[in-house]
Order: sequence, then structure tokens, then C-alpha cells
Amino acid sequence: MIESSGSCKCGQVQFKVDGAPLQVVACHCTLCRSMTGAPLSSYLVVREEAFSVTYGKNGLASYAVTERTRRHFCVTCGTPIFNANPHTYKGLAMVYLGTVQGHERLVPGLSIYCESMLPWVSNSESIRRFPQGPTRSA
Ligand SMILES: [Zn+2]
Ligand SMILES: [Zn+2]
Repeated sequence: MIESSGSCKCGQVQFKVDGAPLQVVACHCTLCRSMTGAPLSSYLVVREEAFSVTYGKNGLASYAVTERTRRHFCVTCGTPIFNANPHTYKGLAMVYLGTVQGHERLVPGLSIYCESMLPWVSNSESIRRFPQGPTRSA
């Protein structure tokens, strides 16, 4: 069985996911944007019971983003770990892609809330690119 592990930036909270994700999603909703500060958020949809915190449970805090959605994050470094919405998405956890080890191999199968996608996100080819940070003269 595939098992993925992951952690927040500081390592205070560590978790594992048993099995393959049900789905990998790229979400362009304005709620995700405001709570991550990023133009879009990407996450793995997994069964609640497939997700477990293996280290640092006490380092995990949560915030009610809406009446139904709760965001769980590391109290020390602030990294978002997962969201849960037991009303609309009962029994599921949305685990932030960037926190999962080996997330480079995970490609979203769905892009959702595209009506609120920032226009440059789908047009990023037109933005000047650098393999790393730009030089001062760039
Ligand atoms: Zn942390
Ligand atoms: Zn969203």
C-alpha cells in the first residue's frame, strides 16, 4: 500500500496518508486564496481515516474559516496542513499538496472554482521566467 508522509515547514507537526489520494485538486476559490495568500491552492482529497498526525498533535491548531470549514495549521510556523468540512465533505480531509513529501509527482486531476481563477494563472507562460531568482539586472 502506498503511504505518504508529510510535515509543516518547521517539522513540529508530522503526518501520514495511507493509500493513494481520492483526488488531487487545484482550487481557485477566493476563500482558499484569502486563507493561503497564494493565487490558488492545491490539495489531496483523502479519507479522514487515511490521514493521521504521527507527531506533534499538540502543535496543530485550527481556525473556523467559515461555519463549515476548518483550517488546521502548525502553531509554530503557520503552515496549513489540512482543511475539513464535515458538513459538505463528510469524512474527508483536504491535505495541502506542498506539505506532502514527494508532492512533485502529484498532479491535480481537477481544477475547481475556475470562474474566480486569476487570469494570469492560466497564462503564466507569458511571464518572464528564471531557473532561480532573477539577477539584480533582470
Ligand atoms: Zn511547523
Ligand atoms: Zn478553494
